[in-house]
Amino acid sequence: MTNGDIVSYLGEPNIKAGGKLANITLTYKKLGFEVEFYSKVWEAADAPISHVCFFLPEKNYEIICAVCREKTTKRCSRCQIVNYCSRGHQELHWKAHKVFCKKID
Ligand SMILES: [Zn+2]
Ligand SMILES: [Zn+2]
Repeated sequence: MTNGDIVSYLGEPNIKAGGKLANITLTYKKLGFEVEFYSKVWEAADAPISHVCFFLPEKNYEIICAVCREKTTKRCSRCQIVNYCSRGHQELHWKAHKVFCKKID
């Protein structure tokens, strides 16, 4: 699994950190984990994972659309994990998300 895989399965994270001097990290507050990659550039979508840090999912996380990062309250009715602002964005993301969504069953 790489940076590109994780974003394509789960959508946009709550926080994208790093770059330049620090390794890039993706934080999914709702799922309770942060992934750090062996890369300092966001363009390297195939960077391997350095480590994963798990924490208790935060209660006051912002729920954001997996595609555009807008705040939302709607989510995938199948897996109940990934959020979308609109049906259009859910459909746009489905091709990538279905791999993850079907594994949750
Ligand atoms: Zn959206
Ligand atoms: Zn789903």
